[in-house]
Amino acid sequence: ALTVQNIVDWIVKANEKIQANKDYLTALDQAIGDGDHGINMSRGFQETAEKIRGETYTSGADVLQDTAKTLMSKVGGASGPLFGTAFLKLSAAIKGIDPVDYDTFTGAIEDAVNGIKQRGKAAEGDKTLVDVWSKMADLFNCESDFRADRIAEEAKSAMEQTKSMMATKGRAAYFKDGSIGHIDPGSASSLYIFEALSEVIE
Ligand code: ADP
Ligand code: MG
Ligand code: MG
Repeated sequence: ALTVQNIVDWIVKANEKIQANKDYLTALDQAIGDGDHGINMSRGFQETAEKIRGETYTSGADVLQDTAKTLMSKVGGASGPLFGTAFLKLSAAIKGIDPVDYDTFTGAIEDAVNGIKQRGKAAEGDKTLVDVWSKMADLFNCESDFRADRIAEEAKSAMEQTKSMMATKGRAAYFKDGSIGHIDPGSASSLYIFEALSEVIE
């Protein structure tokens, strides 16, 4: 299950990983975008972690709602509203449930995937963060309890699978087949978010 403290730790850890990999995220976006993804994500998650560390929470939904709002206003770029939507959907789906049980979290991830897809008008295979989030929804549906090792493995493999895809959404789509052979930046930052999750679940 995920306690309020686990959820706080999740976001704080996600921020640490994004800060540590800021230059890598930028390099990925230099290859098939405008080179700002590391900057966008590091700014947004830094602000989010600071906000969350400064508050006292009694529910996980409030942590994720503050995360969503801060990401939406601070990340910028295409990815800001997309990650913002993901965390807003997660927050709504766990509202009033603490600690968050496995089935509730599974439903929350599904809602998040659907929210990202709708917001980005994107589907699986478009070489976006949808590819990682959707794989997580599939995994949660297949398992019956939190499995840290599986979450980390599947997220990594989903990110790696974006390498051979041709981008059809966002800036990377302008590169057409030139986008093939490069990992999608938003999928890489999504991997850090799920690696962080895998490290906090009990
Ligand atoms: P920008 O492209 O505006 O510079 P970022 O570089 O921060 O924004 O984010 C780029 C990432 O956003 C991509 O790697 C991809 O994962 C994601 N993305 C972009 N457009 C879409 C979309 N329409 N649907 C889903 N994800 C998208
Ligand atoms: Mg960019
Ligand atoms: Mg940009």
